[in-house]
Amino acid sequence: MSLQLYNTLTRKNERLETCEPNHVRMYTCGPTVYDYAHIGNFRAYMFEDLLRRTLKFSGYKVTHVMNLTDVDDKTIRASIEKNLSLKEYTTTYSQAFFEDLHILNIEKAEFYPAATGHIEEMIELISRLIEKGYAYPSDDGSVYFHLSTFKEYGKLSRIDLSGMQPGARVAQDEYEKQHVGDFALWKAWHEEDGDVGWDSPWGKGRPGWHIECSAMSMKYLGESFDIHTGGIDNMFPHHEDEIAQSEAATGKPFVRYWMHCSHLVVDGKKMSKSLGNFYTLQDLLDRGYTSRELRYVLMGTHYRQTLNFTFEGLEAARAALQRIDEFASRLKDLVHGESASSLPDWAQHVRSEFSLALNNDLNISKARAVLFDMLHAGHKALDEGSVHASEAAAVLDTIGDLDRVFGFLEASPDEADSDAIAILKAREEARKNKDWAEADRLRDQITRLGWTLQDTPKGPKLKRK
Ligand SMILES: [Zn+2]
Repeated sequence: MSLQLYNTLTRKNERLETCEPNHVRMYTCGPTVYDYAHIGNFRAYMFEDLLRRTLKFSGYKVTHVMNLTDVDDKTIRASIEKNLSLKEYTTTYSQAFFEDLHILNIEKAEFYPAATGHIEEMIELISRLIEKGYAYPSDDGSVYFHLSTFKEYGKLSRIDLSGMQPGARVAQDEYEKQHVGDFALWKAWHEEDGDVGWDSPWGKGRPGWHIECSAMSMKYLGESFDIHTGGIDNMFPHHEDEIAQSEAATGKPFVRYWMHCSHLVVDGKKMSKSLGNFYTLQDLLDRGYTSRELRYVLMGTHYRQTLNFTFEGLEAARAALQRIDEFASRLKDLVHGESASSLPDWAQHVRSEFSLALNNDLNISKARAVLFDMLHAGHKALDEGSVHASEAAAVLDTIGDLDRVFGFLEASPDEADSDAIAILKAREEARKNKDWAEADRLRDQITRLGWTLQDTPKGPKLKRK
């Protein structure tokens, strides 16, 4: 049984063949830490979590790198607006990002390199491109990639270059297809950059966004590696530029499999702050939904299809998780310390069918159907009283096995419920206002809900009593 994945580069389902046997080296374009991540971002990170967990479930060792973009046009602009140093500004959002990943039970990557920690590697890569004739410094001390020297430009996004303006240059990190041209690898310092800048052979400046990912992926994963993932929006120009920079510098194929996750919309509409349908993780927790329900929803649609996020979907997730919990608790009631024996008939093929579904380009709907078919048959068998204690234990083991991929079957013991979180927030507010009596009252309320509250230097933490 082999894993088949859809490769955007070839527009085909392909059997995964890794550079090194049984080891997948994978890179993900991580967050630009200039704001709190929203559920559209988490949709992509959830896809990568599903991929990562599936690879491990299939027996691969995974080395996963996700970068943090902590210097680019957006972070600089935002830090200056807030009158903070770039570091102060981005630290808030990178910490929040890691907290959100933890809450959503997204597995940690092996490496999270930050761009500002790898300026030297980027300068080195740019120098190599200049030496090989693929890049040139401009008069102002910037460096541009010479697009027409890289004949394969456009092979990922299949962009039509016939309308390209000769000699056109783009300095911005993000641009549209009609503006394709020589793109910036190094940007000379300008007044609007404030105190952000590094010395380089071309003068003071900062890296372009695209070179960050080429330099950091190759540093941690080698010049050729297996899988590169990202949102569909990253395909052009970001990933196209990554390929050009990396392959021009090394002369080797950069990535074997490119995988892209589709968009998330809310009630069928594009999510935007102006439409009032823009949600961070915290927004949804504040509305009383659990991270487990959110995980269920964000993982539930195949990654190449648009995910339509709705509150009805969250309600359906709640009901589905209740069914799962109810089933697990019926099995647990039956076990009485018996150890697992063979599986009952209705659960025999679950693991292999589940595997088969995921091996088909991560067919999550089918994988979930396998689970619910088992639940259906299992409830029936339990009603009939035909399940032995040792069989129940074996089925629980199977559920635990599936949860290595799903990550939402078992309620995590340290997952604070939404009520406790809401009260905690109110307590923080009371403390801010120096209303100590109210803060104490709220603390007692949290305790009554079964949580202990610890005030740590990083803020209050909830722990199940
Ligand atoms: Zn990237």
